Amino acid sequence: MSDVILQIDHLSKQFTDTPIAAVRDISLQIFSGEVMALTGPSGAGKTTLLRLLAGLLSPDEGHIYLKDELVNTYAEELVAGHPDIHLVFQDFKLFPNHTVQENIAYPLRYYNQDFQQIKTEELLTLFHLEAFATKYPRELSGGQQQRVALAKAMAAEPTMLLLDEPFSQIDGKLKQEIKQALGHLVKEYGTTLIFVTHDTLAALSFADRIALICEGELVQVGTPETIYQKPTNQFVASFFGQCNFLKASNIPARFRTNAPANDIACIRPEQARLVPEPMSDFNGTITQQYFMGSHYMLNVTISTQQVFWVVTQQAYQIGQAVYLKIHDLHWIPQ
Ligand code: ADP
Ligand code: MG
Repeated sequence: MSDVILQIDHLSKQFTDTPIAAVRDISLQIFSGEVMALTGPSGAGKTTLLRLLAGLLSPDEGHIYLKDELVNTYAEELVAGHPDIHLVFQDFKLFPNHTVQENIAYPLRYYNQDFQQIKTEELLTLFHLEAFATKYPRELSGGQQQRVALAKAMAAEPTMLLLDEPFSQIDGKLKQEIKQALGHLVKEYGTTLIFVTHDTLAALSFADRIALICEGELVQVGTPETIYQKPTNQFVASFFGQCNFLKASNIPARFRTNAPANDIACIRPEQARLVPEPMSDFNGTITQQYFMGSHYMLNVTISTQQVFWVVTQQAYQIGQAVYLKIHDLHWIPQ
């Protein structure tokens, strides 16, 4: 997994009549066979970056190299010149006059009939589409069409697959199954997958690495664990879930051994516990409680008047006095 397949160097793109660039000086390496999530808030520039990578847009500045070959000189060369690279955008682009199974079989048209049939059936099963094999795209829901588009893209066993919000219309249990099916296939085929998502859980649970983009700039890139546990700033920390930010002066001395005095402590809700008073770091009062299914999320207003988010397994009473102990944290430099 250490071969660089795509090298992105100082890429910038500004649309005419817009005050700021949609993509600003982004450099990133993509390794062969990895699953890379491009994530960030709405309007961050994720789709624009994907379109640049696909050769559907030309950058104003910067270069893209595919296996050492410069590919961004001519728009569309990346797609047109490299049949192994497949794209699925939010509008799917299925053939309207062909059935689901014909759509999926299309990339297999040069193979023999038996192979086409076996492969198509395998993909129909993996993407839970057996019941829709003879239907037309217009007869399907958005989520079903999205699954057909994914199955069709994977039929080609692409070297590289670029997906824009691939799970956006698929929900709940099915989303988990589709992620598993896709994850299994990309590893089996050695496909390098770059996918855009604003869904932080999809990025954390599915990607090998995550690149977080905000206002056109790359903010942090790393494994899901690194991005979640060791965010480089408060924006990254908050983007991937609740986080309590405390000044160093409010943090118990046992955590402050190496931290500069003006660093900010980032404490995830699951990194603190309610404990009996003698063991505690803070006292406070429960001001809100949210049932989250697998756990409760409490708001405890502590002595600094800050609201502290903490995860518990059981319900408490609003207004109850409680004691908090921090068992781990991450320092963010200021
Ligand atoms: P994301 O996919 O992260 O939601 P986009 O890449 O679609 O964001 O958009 C980034 C910024 O570029 C937004 O401010 C958007 O309005 C602008 N933008 C995107 N496409 C165009 C376009 N074709 N013309 C003008 N502005 C655009
Ligand atoms: Mg987008």
